Parts: sequence; structure tokens; C-alpha cells
Amino acid sequence: MSLFDLPPIPDVPVKGETEGYPVRRIFCVGRNYAAHAAEMGNEVDREAPFYFTKSPAHLVLTGATLPFPPGTEDYHHEMEFVVALGAPLFRCSADEGMAAVYGYACGLDMTRRDLQGQAKDKRRPWDLGKDVEGAAVIGEITKAAEFGTVSDQSITLAVNGEMKQDATLAELIHDVPAVLVHLSRYYHLGPGDLIYTGTPAGVGAVQPGAVLHGEVAGLGPVDLTLGDPE
Ligand code: MN
Repeated sequence: MSLFDLPPIPDVPVKGETEGYPVRRIFCVGRNYAAHAAEMGNEVDREAPFYFTKSPAHLVLTGATLPFPPGTEDYHHEMEFVVALGAPLFRCSADEGMAAVYGYACGLDMTRRDLQGQAKDKRRPWDLGKDVEGAAVIGEITKAAEFGTVSDQSITLAVNGEMKQDATLAELIHDVPAVLVHLSRYYHLGPGDLIYTGTPAGVGAVQPGAVLHGEVAGLGPVDLTLGDPE
């Protein structure tokens, strides 16, 4: 028994399964597409990826309608390819890493860009910009074997029916095995760990009432509708 009842973290639906995928942690890779790093005025670090995290409590499933978040006038979409782990990984090889992938999903790393920018300027953490309530959106997980090899699948995002992000997974600077090899040097990764692998170019602000629709070829889409601010 616990002292308080907390809101449950939703399991992520898995294609072909009746049981859902429980989420433990959410890791996000920064600047993993060169064209996006350039549009943000940043250099790409090809030596090693870097990360930030989002609270699992901020996970929402595709199809949600959420209020426009507080404290921002520059709420950005970031369409991402998400890796869901299904087995333990620590100091793994590339092959071991890929063998531990349970599946993949479409995700949105929604971002208070104004607050992230202020944090960068002041050399402060990104939490107010990135770890936003409802800002880790995820679609249905497709199992890795069904998805097949991560190669040059398209990754796209439309806002109100207008294409904003249009790239391929071949543009990932640090590919999935490289990220798993690197991240597993620092964490005991395992089932329930999601990794948002970064966003391609074309990020931008959305307004109250926006309808977002993201796709990666071979996966179920991710959809989000933003309502009015509270
Ligand atoms: Mn991102």
C-alpha cells in the first residue's frame, strides 16, 4: 500500500498483442540529424550522442487532445523515431544492442523552445523546455522483427495537413546500435526504456487548435491535437 494514489502511466499498445508495453524511463537524443542541428544554429557532435530525459509521467498515447501547455509562446513539434527495449543491456556491443530492441514507434518530443533557448543561454538544464507535461507522445509499438532493418524509411510530420518535417532514418547521425552502445555505458538499460532518437529538420511552433500527424514508414502514426490553454 502507498500513501497516495497516483495517476497511472499508460502502457503503450503493441501491434498484434493484447498486453501493453510498460514504460520505465524515457531517454531522448539531442541533435541527431545534421539539418536540424544546423537550423538550430548548432554544431553536430559526431563523436558521441548526448541525451536528456523526460518523466514517464509525461507520456501520452497517440490520439490525445491536450491543452496548450503553460509558460510558452513557442511550443515546437519534434517528430522522432522511438526505440523500445525489451531486454537488459549494459556495456553492450552493437549486435547485443539490436538484439535487445523490442520494437519501434513514432513519437513526438514536444518542446517549449523559448524556455529551452533561455536555458541554453544561461547554461541551465533543459527541463522546463523539454520535460513538459504531455510532451512525450507515442504511437503504437511495432515489433522489431516485423519492422525489419532500420534503413531509409521516411519520417514525416504534418501540422493541420501541411508537411513540416520530411526526412529519412538514413539521416540519423548516431544510428540505433550506436546509441545503444553509447547509452549502455552509462545506464543499465532494459525493458520499459524508450529512446527518442532525435528529430529531423523542419521543427516549428504550433498554435492552440493544431492537429499534428507524424509517420514513419512501417509504423503506426502518432497523432496529437492541441486545445486552448488552460
Ligand atoms: Mn528531440
